[in-house]
Parts: sequence; C-alpha cells; structure tokens
Amino acid sequence: MIRITPIQTGTVSIRPHHYCGEAGRSPLGRKIDMMRDKDWLENLPIYTYLIEHPEGNFLVDSGDTAENSSKAYLPRWHPFFQHHVLVKVAPGEEAGDQLRAMGLNPAKDLKGVILTHMHHDHAGGLHYFPHTPIYVSRENFMLANSFRGTILGCLPMHFPKWFAPVLVDLTDEPCGPFPQSYPITRDKRILLVPTPGHMRGHLSVVVRTPDVTYMLAGDATYDQGLLLEELVDGVTYDVATSTDTLKKIRALGIEEPTILLPAHDRNAVERLGSGLILPRS
Ligand SMILES: [Zn+2]
Repeated sequence: MIRITPIQTGTVSIRPHHYCGEAGRSPLGRKIDMMRDKDWLENLPIYTYLIEHPEGNFLVDSGDTAENSSKAYLPRWHPFFQHHVLVKVAPGEEAGDQLRAMGLNPAKDLKGVILTHMHHDHAGGLHYFPHTPIYVSRENFMLANSFRGTILGCLPMHFPKWFAPVLVDLTDEPCGPFPQSYPITRDKRILLVPTPGHMRGHLSVVVRTPDVTYMLAGDATYDQGLLLEELVDGVTYDVATSTDTLKKIRALGIEEPTILLPAHDRNAVERLGSGLILPRS
C-alpha cells in the first residue's frame, strides 16, 4: 500500500512574470520582466509530500523555514530575494513540525528525503533530517552550492553543516517518456526522472501504484493549467528545455493514469483527494 500526504509549509508570493513568462521571451528577457513587475500574485502554497511505502517513508522536498519570513535571513544584496519573493511560514508550519504532529519523528522515521531541486522553498527544512539520506541530482547540488546558485535562488549559506547528500546520477533506464531514471525503492515504484528547465538538474518523482501514477513535479510546472497550456515560467534557463519537460509530463499522463502534484499548485490537494488524473488525450 502506497499513500501520499501533502504537507503545506506556508506560502510564497511571487510576481506574475515569475509565474509565467511571455511567449517568445528569452530567459534573460523573462528575468527583466520579473524585475519590472509591480504586482504580486495571490499567495501560492509550498507543498512537500510524504510518501508512505512498504520500504519506508519518503519526503519529497523539505519546504521552507519560518526563519525565511524575516528579510534578515536573505542576502541583502540580492534584489530578487529582497523585492520579488515573499515567503510566509508560521512557527509550527515547517515540515519537521508537521511530521511530528502526524506522529513521525523526522530524525528517525524517514527512509529518505528527495529534493526536486535546491531552491530555498524546497531545501529550507533540511535541518530536521541529519540522519536521513537526502537525494538530490549531482548537477543541481553543484549549481546550488556555487555563487551562481545563490543568484538563481538557492541559499547555500543556510544548508546544515552536516549536509552531504546522496548525489544522484540518473541511469539510462527509461521511465515512460523519460529517457533516464533512478530507482529509490527496490520495487522501482518510486523513481526519479529528469525534468530540467526550471533549474539545471531538476528531478521529479514518479510514484507508481497499481491504480494510478503520481507525478510529484516540484517546480517543473507550478500548476496543471500551465502544464496543459505548455506555458513556461520566468525562472527557466532554456525555454525549449522547459517545454520539452512539460511535453514529457503530458506524455506520461497519456501513457498511464497520472495525478499531477507540483509543489505550488493550489488544486493539487483537491486532485489528490478526488483522484483527478491528467487528460488522457
Ligand atoms: Zn524552484
């Protein structure tokens, strides 16, 4: 029996051109558009997902931290962090707090933590998991730990001192439309697949159950509407790469009944509850 439970660690506000770039705009043009935006979108949820599997419990992404509700936590010199993203995590809303409230000890009761990528709102809860294998792609880890990683929205200065993740190199075993994969469980029902575009080395988690497949897509798309319209965010480093990722997620949904669970989709919990799958054609 495999069960997925969403855990919301607060909210994030972003600008309209962060959520969705304009057609035909280059990655650099999309950043300029984001910086010029005066409006904010309504708060988006920050979800992590607990996967209960016969081989153990796995957490996908670690959410953000209540410390990130203070601007002092963020690099002062960085216009994006200071002016273009607003995180609100209340005390008690961090992933570790909520696992405890569910009766799980975050330091002991997880078999693994999987990071789709290392943006602050996905890697902000790592301090709860000092004894747990943490999986991240080698490419994303190397980028996140560089100065460029901070420019791109990671906060390596806040990674725990003990942080030494399992660096994932995908193997050439396909998973549906994805040419490579990486099995997390021996039964290969939980697999990592490449979903680059939002960030280099971004991974998504495919969970196959006898009834339905779950696509835990991180930030490969912010929501199902953007996926179905093939609309790419402002963060992308390459629009064609992001578009190809969206097409592959769509193709997975056509090949097998799939519930899409991105990290910031307001309707993800409702789809999970009602079993609403991606369109099959
Ligand atoms: Zn992200």
